[in-house]
Amino acid sequence: DVVVIGSANADLILEIDHRPRGGETILGSDLVVMPGGKGANQAVAAGRLGAGVAFIGCVGPDAYGQMLRTSLAEAGVDTGRLHVADLPSANAIILVTPDGENSIIVSPGANRRMTPELLDGCRATWAGAAIVVLQLEIPLDTVAHVATHAHRAGSRVLVNAAPAAMLDDEVLALCDPLVVNESEADFLVPGGTTGMSPAEMTDALLALGPLSVVVTLGAGGAVHAERGGDVVRTPAHRVQAVDTTGAGDAFVGALAAELAAGADLAGAVTLANEVAAVAVGRRGAQASYPWRAELGR
Ligand code: ADP
Repeated sequence: DVVVIGSANADLILEIDHRPRGGETILGSDLVVMPGGKGANQAVAAGRLGAGVAFIGCVGPDAYGQMLRTSLAEAGVDTGRLHVADLPSANAIILVTPDGENSIIVSPGANRRMTPELLDGCRATWAGAAIVVLQLEIPLDTVAHVATHAHRAGSRVLVNAAPAAMLDDEVLALCDPLVVNESEADFLVPGGTTGMSPAEMTDALLALGPLSVVVTLGAGGAVHAERGGDVVRTPAHRVQAVDTTGAGDAFVGALAAELAAGADLAGAVTLANEVAAVAVGRRGAQASYPWRAELGR
């Protein structure tokens, strides 16, 4: 089984023709509201692949929270530990200009209630699960707490270090794998990764202590390595990219689902590339994720 512990955000998407300056009022497109947040996205990606998935997160007592719960449940995710907190649901306000560039404001809201104490209140759900999946859109002391106790209880701990933030050496040492994209790798490696080959990047990340590492390379696919093992490069699938929102989350969710099903890291990366390619070929984040039956395997 897979337990995803992380953020759930309602994405509020507005197309604008330019970013407003201070004091300026502009008209935007009609508002589009979509379920998002790295944690919820990853749980939906894994759930749609038929993995047994539970999601632990916090939403507010509002319509956005209902939408997030419904999207998870429709993907087959167990939402019994989706807490309703005393803060509004988190939002990501996403402004898209005609050049395709995004400006994003995240209001963390209920995600701030993902405290170590809250996680201790449902420890039986996650400690000892086959794989526990974490990202960094919730308080970092909670990430460290869960990683430590999940590992101690025999769980495999997957940490997606996104958005980029520094992790303690003790947490890095538990990651199996640590999953990052190129900009997160650049952030984590002392001195950055400019000019490094994918193999040099994985070596530099393994030097931080994780048991294994996966770096996603966008249209370049992914590269992975286990401590003491070879560096393996897996190409991406060739697709017409329509919307890359949530591609990294599709990758992580699929990776976790396949690892929980008993695949080795190379096999899981292969499926993750396949799933992420489907996600970039369609609009939206969760809405773009494929169901197992669509993959023909
Ligand atoms: P993030 O979305 O976190 O920045 P990446 O851009 O590295 O992460 O993309 C994650 C994964 O999505 C890649 O490893 C790859 O499998 C897939 N992907 C991203 N962009 C493309 C693309 N243009 N064509 C095919 N696959 C892609």
